[in-house]
Amino acid sequence: MNPVSYPLIAMASAILYVGSNHLFLYLHRKDLREHLPFSLLCLSITLYDVFCIGLYNSHSVAQGVIWQRLQLQSGNFICIFILLFVMILTRQRKSRVLPIILIWFGTLLALSIILNDRFALSPSSPSVKNVSVFGILHATYYEGRLGLVYIVSLLSNIAGIFYVVFLLRRHFSQTRDKNSCFILISLVAYFLGVANDTAVAAHFYSFVYLSEYSFLIVVLVGSYVLLNELLALYKSAEDTRKNLELKVTERTTEIQELNKNLKHQAERDGLTGIYNRRFFDQYLEIEVRRARNRIEFKTAALEAGHDMNFGLAIVDVDKFKKINDTLGHLYGDQALMEVVEEIRKSIFSRDVFCRYGGDEFVILFTRTSREGILLAAEKIRRSLEDHEFRLKSETPAHRITISMGVVVFEDVPAMSGDEILRLADDRLLAAKTRGRNTVVFE
Ligand code: GH3
Ligand code: MG
Repeated sequence: MNPVSYPLIAMASAILYVGSNHLFLYLHRKDLREHLPFSLLCLSITLYDVFCIGLYNSHSVAQGVIWQRLQLQSGNFICIFILLFVMILTRQRKSRVLPIILIWFGTLLALSIILNDRFALSPSSPSVKNVSVFGILHATYYEGRLGLVYIVSLLSNIAGIFYVVFLLRRHFSQTRDKNSCFILISLVAYFLGVANDTAVAAHFYSFVYLSEYSFLIVVLVGSYVLLNELLALYKSAEDTRKNLELKVTERTTEIQELNKNLKHQAERDGLTGIYNRRFFDQYLEIEVRRARNRIEFKTAALEAGHDMNFGLAIVDVDKFKKINDTLGHLYGDQALMEVVEEIRKSIFSRDVFCRYGGDEFVILFTRTSREGILLAAEKIRRSLEDHEFRLKSETPAHRITISMGVVVFEDVPAMSGDEILRLADDRLLAAKTRGRNTVVFE
């Protein structure tokens, strides 16, 4: 076998492998359109290399001309697929040049078949070349002399390269896409290869054909460019996904915040910010059940503690209407807020304090002994009695008192939450009738 065939076998195998990969990729992702012409380009180059091997190993002009014809035709296909590849890569939509190019190469192909051998290739016009490279490599190419059709064909290939260069240059000036530069550089190799082969074929000088090596450069660069495009696509998809995740996290936080606010609004009183009646009614039921469970399952250790007990106090401001009537509603509101502040100072953070409506409040003294509850109730009453309400700076300090009805759970362990509330309300009424500013717990 002619030694120039060995690198060709290696190149043909590698290019076939690269082309198959890109074809496979295209068949899986049809939107990656540029991979189709590129894979066809690789397959054409593989065929070109195979035909070269045939030509370089021919031992007669008759044999050589057959391979030479195939090689020259595949050269035309290489030119067409490079064009298509670059057109798609540079987003050339609706190109009117492409049909002209296809018709032109089609005509050349038809002419090479139809026309007389004089215009194409013939063993009767041999052009045998004895090639010697630096005295090391010797080969004989058994070829026919190129007829007019094939000369035009080679010149068309060179014109095709110039058109591709024009497309890439325009694309680069519009987009500054580095990939265009890489392909431009590989086209220089392509041009030098074709120019060398045309010169060798025309007997300008004696040298080995080089197109096949320059085609390898085109394939390597093209594959690198496509890989770059794929990575850019992957990166942009990844960025979109990250953006989306960020947005989802933001929305989730907003919704959580909104839910927290809604929950707060649903549980709290708008004026004073303490719990509202709806919350209290639910909480009381839970507290009653909990206290009853603790009593039912009490252990020796718990027996002495006050863990199972709680107290409920209903608080009502005395003669509050009068404050509204004399000072106005706004000062009335202010007075209510001050009452809340005073009461809050006297209770534990674990106690549940609610506005039950109007000037009426409920306090749930949790986990507290009977004595503790009564002491706390009395302390609250006294603290308000002693507090000076300065609602209007010019008026003398106001005195506001409260009345309380208190129920201790361990006194009425069989009662439901509603019944406890009703009992506390009755005691509040009793406190009012006993002259107000009083705590009633029996
Ligand atoms: P009593 O000692 O019998 O409780 O006399 P009172 O005047 O306080 O009578 P009652 O508790 O029945 O009346 C509560 C009044 O509280 C009625 C209403 O004018 C006033 N009030 C209720 N809610 C608000 C409020 O949000 N702001 C203000 N400024 N006043 C309120
Ligand atoms: Mg009142």
